[in-house]
Amino acid sequence: MEFRDLTEALWAIRKKDISATELCEHYSQRAVQLNPRVGAYISLNQELKKQAKIIDTKLASGEEPGPLAGAPLAIKDLICTEGLRTTAGSKILENFVPPYSATLVERLKRSGALIVGKANLDEFAMGSSNETSAFGVCRNPQHLDFVPGGSSGGSAAAVAAGMALAAIGTDTGGSIRQPASFCGVVGFKPTYGRVSRYGIIAFASSLDQAGPMTKTVRDAALILETICGHDPMDATSSRQKVPLFSRDLATDIKGVRIGLPKEYFSEGLSEEVRKVVEKATTELKGQGAEIVEVSIPLTEMAVPIYYLIATSEASSNLSRYDGVRFGYRAKFEDRPPEDLIEFYSRTRGEGFGSEVKRRIMLGTYALSSGYYDAYYRKACQVRRLLHDQFVDVFESCDVILSPTAPTPAFRIGERIDDPLQMYLNDIYTTSTNLAGLPGMSVPGGRSREGLPIGVQLMAGQFREQQMLNVAAALEQLMQFSQGIPDVG
Ligand code: GLN
Repeated sequence: MEFRDLTEALWAIRKKDISATELCEHYSQRAVQLNPRVGAYISLNQELKKQAKIIDTKLASGEEPGPLAGAPLAIKDLICTEGLRTTAGSKILENFVPPYSATLVERLKRSGALIVGKANLDEFAMGSSNETSAFGVCRNPQHLDFVPGGSSGGSAAAVAAGMALAAIGTDTGGSIRQPASFCGVVGFKPTYGRVSRYGIIAFASSLDQAGPMTKTVRDAALILETICGHDPMDATSSRQKVPLFSRDLATDIKGVRIGLPKEYFSEGLSEEVRKVVEKATTELKGQGAEIVEVSIPLTEMAVPIYYLIATSEASSNLSRYDGVRFGYRAKFEDRPPEDLIEFYSRTRGEGFGSEVKRRIMLGTYALSSGYYDAYYRKACQVRRLLHDQFVDVFESCDVILSPTAPTPAFRIGERIDDPLQMYLNDIYTTSTNLAGLPGMSVPGGRSREGLPIGVQLMAGQFREQQMLNVAAALEQLMQFSQGIPDVG
């Protein structure tokens, strides 16, 4: 059973070529069979079959089951799902079963979508390789010795390995786009505020956004129009009207101005990635797009300011894991804790992994009195200037084209002991989060080793449609063949 994408499978359900139950059975069987090898899921939904049957009953009785009826999705395990364990990839939340679902999950369910399982991720979404998960590494289905990217590595791997037809990831500094690039799928990070963050376990609240990871651009558009929209439960969620992205998808890009920021093509970019982006540029030009060179000089500051702001916010957000209200609590089997401080530090020391601890310490330091002005405040000021540079650039172009990541996927274990090297992988993705802009990765080509390489698109705030249109054109032009890798 192979569908080109989710959209095609949903038609097949509507036409009664296949039932929602059959489709979901297929994906849940693949998930069970492949998970020991790929590690894409932390938990599987045991209620899937029952929930799929409800969709089929609605279809049989003529009741409208919603635009995503029967869609088998993987949901990143950072997103709360009522009654279904949500771990954030951390031992500290190993037994956490949320009493409510995130708004975006509620919206998906109301549209008839179904959850195959909760996808693996770097602990608290901190990482670029999925290696910091407390639930084991996830592997790149295109080549099992390589990382799937991160932090939404499980979401990307589930789609690439045919263990779900689409997935939801989150992106604080590139965590949807970079794994999409590494695994050969489409990854979409909306404008900050488009998707409610209510029920998404917070990493860095001023940067976090959820979005779709899919096989095709039209699938991303379809899921987007379901999950976007104002939510009174999230004070930062936008009241902007949500377009019908999938209906308005058009591949005519004549006259669209594509900006190439020169800072994205300098030192550190692999030749293979550069070639794929160059090919994308040539193809778009061939379709009548206008190519303009642009400059975003503060690009070199994006990684340092991201790692100051993200860690500062994380140090505050993660203070709630104290072993008192929920989550892991240190055992103290031999003797009771001496005081509350010992109780907290043993609990947090045992519950968090080393990357999370590193970030909490960095963030606490950047926020501490005496350093606040020099680090945190300065980073916020530079962030504003970076935002302003993007505003200027979008005067002379409509959509920006760039690499998603400087290299294709790297080997498992290759960078895990070198945090700086790992952080530098985010050089092209963090700016959009800092500026609150939408960004996406579209499969463009493959490396000599057969690993996928994505190209990134970025647009002005709330200009998702234009970016999707360029992506749809690119998808046709690049003819990236996805297939389902043989991991069975
Ligand atoms: N790789 C980045 C980090 O480690 C981005 C993570 C994310 O977007 N969640 O912080």
